[in-house]
Amino acid sequence: MEVPPPEELMHPLYVPNKTLMGPGPSNGSQRVLDSLSNPILGHMHKECFQIMDEIKAGVKHLFQTENVATMCVSGSGHAGMETAFVNLVEDGDVVLLACTGLWGHRAAEMVKRVNGDVRYVESRFGRSLSIKEIEFAFEGHKPQVFFIAQGDSSTGILQQNLKEIGELCEKYNCLFVVDTVASLGGTEFLMDAWKVDMAYTGSQKVLGAPPGITPVSFSDRAIARIKARKTYVKSYYFDALLVGQYWNCFEAPRIYHHTISSTLLYGLREALAQFCTMGRKNVIRRHQECSHRLQCGVEEIGLEMLVPKANDRLPTVNTIKVPVGVDWRKVSDYAMRKYKLEISGGLGPTAEQVFRIGLMGENATYERVDLVLNILHEAIQSSKIPEK
Ligand code: PMP
Repeated sequence: MEVPPPEELMHPLYVPNKTLMGPGPSNGSQRVLDSLSNPILGHMHKECFQIMDEIKAGVKHLFQTENVATMCVSGSGHAGMETAFVNLVEDGDVVLLACTGLWGHRAAEMVKRVNGDVRYVESRFGRSLSIKEIEFAFEGHKPQVFFIAQGDSSTGILQQNLKEIGELCEKYNCLFVVDTVASLGGTEFLMDAWKVDMAYTGSQKVLGAPPGITPVSFSDRAIARIKARKTYVKSYYFDALLVGQYWNCFEAPRIYHHTISSTLLYGLREALAQFCTMGRKNVIRRHQECSHRLQCGVEEIGLEMLVPKANDRLPTVNTIKVPVGVDWRKVSDYAMRKYKLEISGGLGPTAEQVFRIGLMGENATYERVDLVLNILHEAIQSSKIPEK
């Protein structure tokens, strides 16, 4: 029996134009979108290598690092997370995971798969972790690796004390891994000054590039730990020494490791170029000002932020309590149906409890803040009217 071509594929592709103000991806700029229609290049062509070198320089600036082992892995943010653990964890290593929301638990799913010994330090709901709480956990667990998300997009919590955590990790000879997928570009991050050993971020959040390519960086200390492993890294695809060789990070000549998507490189290159042109500090300031405007507006329309302390609030992904008697799904559906605007519900520990509003990249403007506030207010009012 022959399988016929599907009828659906006889029509051209249609993609609606939505305003993406959930926790990511954010909307790409016209410059990024235009770059995606460039011709495809071979993954070993010199022009492709040139773009990779430019991206590497941009990522070093983005992370504020001079690490030679700065590169990208092919995959979304989860690929960055997987890269951290497959490289840095060996059987039986104690890995202490900070949980200020979902992401510490998601990290556990990866650490378990590489036979790491998972331990947790959990914050109180809606709060970041104090250095005292973390040090207490270090004393009890004596971890080889410590993980934290600078911004937890499920709860909207920002962890501010990374510099002190870096010092703690040094004192305990522990590798320091930071997830900056949701936070980078929306808040300060100084990889070298804060003694971070491994960091990764998302291309599709503040940067506004397509998902599928993830900047990662390893300190010299982390690379030395990988070189001293007794066993092979349990993933070929995410082996930092091999990917790093393809990205020309080490003295060795470039190798063919995998066929990188040149298209995704174009998008990321242009997103980084825009970030550099606008200025790192200006981008961060704009995200913080937008979040502040949103928080004030939220109060004005009688709503409440989930995170009680303003200092603990992540500017990029803002969590707002769903008022009693309101069904968040109806609100979200209304905004999408009527305005093609994405407002998300909660995730993990905040499921059913919050709206999550992303102010990232193209959507971190006062106009977008006012738009989302107006639509949120209207959608909540309309969801209260009983349906006939
Ligand atoms: N970490 C954090 C903090 C995130 O917000 C996300 C994406 N929401 C991820 C990791 C995973 O990224 P991705 O969905 O691109 O795999």
